[in-house]
Amino acid sequence: MDIHEYQAKELLSNFGVEVPPGALAYSPEQATYRAREMGGDKWIVKAQVHAGGRGKAGGVKLCETDVEIQEACEGMFGQKLVTHQTGSEGKGIYRVYVEGAVPIAKEFYLGFVLDRSSQRIMIVASAEGGMEIEEISAERPDSIVRSTVEPAVGLQDFQAREIAFKLGIEPALTQKMVRTLQGCYRAFTDLDATMVEVNPLVVTGDDRVVALDAKMTFDDNALFRHPQVSELRDKSQEDPRESRAADRGLSYVGLDGNIGCIVNGAGLAMATMDTIMLAGGEPANFLDIGGGATPERVAKAFRLVMSDKNVQAVLVNIFAGINRCDWVAEGVVQALKEVQVDVPVIVRLAGTNVEEGQKILAQSGLPVIRANTLMEAAERAVGAWRNDVAMGTHLKVAK
Ligand code: ADP
Ligand code: MG
Repeated sequence: MDIHEYQAKELLSNFGVEVPPGALAYSPEQATYRAREMGGDKWIVKAQVHAGGRGKAGGVKLCETDVEIQEACEGMFGQKLVTHQTGSEGKGIYRVYVEGAVPIAKEFYLGFVLDRSSQRIMIVASAEGGMEIEEISAERPDSIVRSTVEPAVGLQDFQAREIAFKLGIEPALTQKMVRTLQGCYRAFTDLDATMVEVNPLVVTGDDRVVALDAKMTFDDNALFRHPQVSELRDKSQEDPRESRAADRGLSYVGLDGNIGCIVNGAGLAMATMDTIMLAGGEPANFLDIGGGATPERVAKAFRLVMSDKNVQAVLVNIFAGINRCDWVAEGVVQALKEVQVDVPVIVRLAGTNVEEGQKILAQSGLPVIRANTLMEAAERAVGAWRNDVAMGTHLKVAK
């Protein structure tokens, strides 16, 4: 799960990272009011969207008067901000953050990521701040400082000092840099983050070390341990199909093709998608029903997949270990009776209670196309979809 910049800053500041004074606003009027309340004579108005690259896309504006703040906000609220990280659709701007402008002396890049090869948290830093890390690694790879943290002891002060030294931070500011690094590291581990990025981290004209931008991503599977983090979720920034599924305890990934996939397990989802592609089709999405899915859960999954208007065939591929094929079959039957499914449905079941499952499907009298292997299922799904397209019956009636 991603959160907004202003939320990440608040979390990081609780761990001792210095951030500029700032206030959130939901309207241009509120933004000017909050700026006046905050004081100062220069403010940065920042669109709050779950994506970086806002500066270049017009989502970060320097303002010196009420009128400028008002105008900057009017150009943002209700608009979609398209940056190189949002995709062409962009992300809606419904909140802006007004921040006191900081006199920047030097910008740095600072990131904390999970390094899979060393299975450690890795700190990535560079004195080439302001650029995205991808650009830095393409243009100035030698400027990148990397340091992995030994989990048994955590980030050590000497290690943080070494990073500060390699970045060329003035000795008088080393202690402030250590505090910042330690704060980010503790926020990362204590809150089960998978990424913390401060870009830019700056040294100011008056010798402070300040986080001017902040991005945090959290491990969804650990959110239950952090209610104060999970309540920061902003659905306006998510793919509506994915948040609807998450609300129902299902995991869903939206794609661009037209064959809807209902599977159990992410590995099987990958294999199913590969096989569909091999058979000449393209997946519209995949929905993972997880383990031990009840008929009701399977029916819910069906409704979600059918609510995607791109879906022109549905492939159910279940390899039941913990799951039960008879439950899945019951769910499919329930869904087909309740939801208007006017596209071909292909079901491949294997594993626990497969005979009962097949029997339920056969006796239901519903037009379900059954397959025994994944390849066969994919070929039938692609074949049925092509046939439907050829007959013109894929044009669905509005639901
Ligand atoms: P993004 O990474 O999405 O473009 P940032 O928050 O990094 O957004 O802002 C872009 C640039 O704007 C920063 O690199 C920095 O130079 C400048 N900036 C952002 N916040 C402030 C601030 N409070 N004071 C001064 N400059 C700022
Ligand atoms: Mg930034």
